Amino acid sequence: MGRWPKVGVAFLRFVAVAGPVLLGLLTALYIGRPSSHFLAAGITLVVAILACDGWIIARRRWITAGFALATQIAFLTFVGTYTASPLPAPSPISDPLPQASPPVGTAIYALPTGVNHRTAAFAYRGGSPWDKRDSVSTAVLVRHPQGDLLIDTGLGRTIAEQMGEFPFLFRLGTDLVRFQAAADQLEAAGYDRTQLRYILLTHAHWDHVSGVPDFPAVPVLVTAAEHRFIDDGGWATAHAKSMNAVFQEYAFDGGPYMGFTQSHDLYGDGSIVIVPAPGHTPGSVVVFVTLSGGARYAFVGDLVWQLQGLLEREERPWFEAKTLGENPVLLRQSLLRMSAIATRYPHIKIVPSHDPRGYASIPEWSRSAAWKNHRPN
Ligand SMILES: [Zn+2]
Ligand SMILES: [Zn+2]
Repeated sequence: MGRWPKVGVAFLRFVAVAGPVLLGLLTALYIGRPSSHFLAAGITLVVAILACDGWIIARRRWITAGFALATQIAFLTFVGTYTASPLPAPSPISDPLPQASPPVGTAIYALPTGVNHRTAAFAYRGGSPWDKRDSVSTAVLVRHPQGDLLIDTGLGRTIAEQMGEFPFLFRLGTDLVRFQAAADQLEAAGYDRTQLRYILLTHAHWDHVSGVPDFPAVPVLVTAAEHRFIDDGGWATAHAKSMNAVFQEYAFDGGPYMGFTQSHDLYGDGSIVIVPAPGHTPGSVVVFVTLSGGARYAFVGDLVWQLQGLLEREERPWFEAKTLGENPVLLRQSLLRMSAIATRYPHIKIVPSHDPRGYASIPEWSRSAAWKNHRPN
């Protein structure tokens, strides 16, 4: 056998054994960024692997076949981690709806700052890889007579530079389209910055804190656990670590709240109540907002990426959870608590940070004229 046939044989073996590993990577990339390039590369690779399998069997290369079988089973096991696996239903809660006396003038507005094009499979187990989903980055302005606050900031003015620091594979698997930063949207509408009292973080990941530096000197409210996590969160919290923000910790000094063991009532009137919901990050929270008209919202951050994750009790897929370094036990507890609330109080609008459907009932700041007439008492 000449030199080239030997090289050819080595290549066929390599494709059969290492191909499934590359196919796993392409699968993960496509699920996070459904580009036709990843799809075409994946289909080509499947055909090549099957052809090499045929060659190995025809030539009875059983040692190579053993290795190829192992990596191909590993690939199928990986794909299996994206299939539906609903958590058992939690015991129902009987807690009465907590009292709230929001003052007249409380209101909320959505400030969409960008979108990632992803798939349902990326967001929750059982989601289809063919179901394309927008993963939005939206800041929420809560207007309150004691001082407005922003729940997360979305993508800030310098997001392009921030993204340049992210790992190559993450950037390859992310198709991010940015809109106007929250600070610019507020400025364009003549918003009086002195009314913005706090930025309240659901957690400190890059896509939630990106716009913090656009609001210099505005205190950023975090839990002690999340403040500590900023130092250990790797690249996902590198921006939070370096941005020189004025972090202000708060304590869960309030009692149980709708099945959560602790709470913090920001203004003491029940309009903005924060509860610990760890798992996605150690100090993740859920922010309950009640408006003077009676409408109630639960801003759940990244507890789930799409509402179905909560309603169908489907966790994030294994690969996504693993790369985020989530605590699966705590995340499950937080998810089931929120799931029990969603069942008991279907009128509370649950808003996962990245699900555009969560914002359907919230007026968009830039399109709304309501702010013009709003003057807190
Ligand atoms: Zn996050
Ligand atoms: Zn996020």
